[in-house]
Amino acid sequence: VSNASDACDKLRFEALNNAALYEDTPTLQVHVSFDPAAKTLTVRDNGIGMSAEEAVAHLGTIAKSGTREFLARLDSDQKKDANLIGQFGVGFYSGFIVADRITVESRRAGLAAEAGVRWTSDGSGQFDVETIDRPARGTDVILHLREGEEEFAKTWKLKSIISKYSDHISLP
Ligand code: ADP
Ligand code: MG
Repeated sequence: VSNASDACDKLRFEALNNAALYEDTPTLQVHVSFDPAAKTLTVRDNGIGMSAEEAVAHLGTIAKSGTREFLARLDSDQKKDANLIGQFGVGFYSGFIVADRITVESRRAGLAAEAGVRWTSDGSGQFDVETIDRPARGTDVILHLREGEEEFAKTWKLKSIISKYSDHISLP
């Protein structure tokens, strides 16, 4: 959810110079859903998204923080304005604590629908990448929950985690 929020903030930030990045959906949001039968938990955002190259560079390396690099490119006034959360570079990979596979589907704002990417990994350091059609801007992170982690596909559990750790996030 923090990464989704950062992705929305990055879009808002880049759109200051290029409003076309909002395409036809200016309302930024994060959507959390789950499927108990499939044992999946999905966090979707309509933020900046990732190109295939960015997915490989940013998701492919453990402890690489794209947000830290993004911040390094800003001057101090811009930094104050940007409200970015992640800076530690362990966030995404921590999903593998509860998931034995993570699928990320994304399309960067401003790129064509055919320039979507699907990145899949079992967390071993290896990953697969393919090009997909993805009309919606932004990112879906699909956690395939490990045996024994089914509680992350339950409403009460998700509500309590999200209200505890993501209460400060202003996005719907
Ligand atoms: P951090 O949040 O500290 O940058 P993470 O490991 O949580 O580190 O994420 C690594 C990088 O993957 C992010 O910096 C970002 O570039 C990319 N990323 C992760 N989730 C998303 C998302 N929902 N939308 C766009 N990019 C993302
Ligand atoms: Mg993060």
